[in-house]
Amino acid sequence: MKLQDKVCIVTGAASGIGKEIAFTYAREGGKVVIADMNKAAAQAAADEIGQAGGTAMAVAMDVTSEEQVNAAVAEVVAAWGGVDVLVSNAGIQIVHPVEEFPFADWKKMLAIHLDGAFLTTKACIPHMQKSGKGGSIIYMGSVHSKEASVLKSAYVTAKHGLIGLCKTVAKEGGTHNIRANVICPGFVRTPLVEKQIPEQAKALGISEADVIKKVMLKETVDGEFTTVQDVAAVALLFASFDSNALTGQSLVVSHGWFMQ
Ligand code: NAD
Repeated sequence: MKLQDKVCIVTGAASGIGKEIAFTYAREGGKVVIADMNKAAAQAAADEIGQAGGTAMAVAMDVTSEEQVNAAVAEVVAAWGGVDVLVSNAGIQIVHPVEEFPFADWKKMLAIHLDGAFLTTKACIPHMQKSGKGGSIIYMGSVHSKEASVLKSAYVTAKHGLIGLCKTVAKEGGTHNIRANVICPGFVRTPLVEKQIPEQAKALGISEADVIKKVMLKETVDGEFTTVQDVAAVALLFASFDSNALTGQSLVVSHGWFMQ
């Protein structure tokens, strides 16, 4: 049990990558908080963890709302006494060429990915300091924290920005044993990616099969998607690694699409 009784908040955990991380943490003894703007789906995921013998609670949280983030973190602390792990994972994708990118969509992308990471970090740090135990903060970056792709200006900008936030939090957190790291997955077949396949086919004028083969997986070493389990394994490593030796890092898990 690598996370016995650790309180772990995972944002965007009602679906996809976040949900798998929540299940993985629960199997390792963590007390998991499914924080998502989709409260019904969050509750369903928490119930599923409970039925499997784990401990989980659902909280309603739109990560772009300071009020909702602070209220949800306060609810967690009232119930379970603190916060040991934060996974800032909630995210969406919107694709357009730069010159056609609606400004409102640009602002929405930066709000969810960057404001969300900032607000949840800000809300959790005081509790990690107060406990005297520190904690682990994990940001869900992407290969797009390192690389660019056409049509994804807002996503690439936001995901690069997370690395700056992570490094700063790692430096500021050092004396309190608060670690910060970024996971950078390649394409994972979650609802977020399923939605992009037809959108990109239309925008690029190619078939959906070609979007997968020639766009999404073109640069991988084996033409394979990364899985939610692959990403959750890295999230477990960062959450359970017990010293400041591993902080301020970004780890790419992408079938070799991007090599550092
Ligand atoms: P997903 O669509 O399956 O899940 C995203 C979850 O985030 C949903 O439950 C949704 O309700 C929630 N969410 C969206 N906006 C929110 C908000 N404002 N506040 C709270 N919750 C919100 O997506 P996923 O593929 O699991 O993506 C999770 C993260 O992984 C994202 O940050 C994404 O950018 C990143 N990522 C995904 C891939 C991929 O290929 N799927 C690759 C690299 C990085």
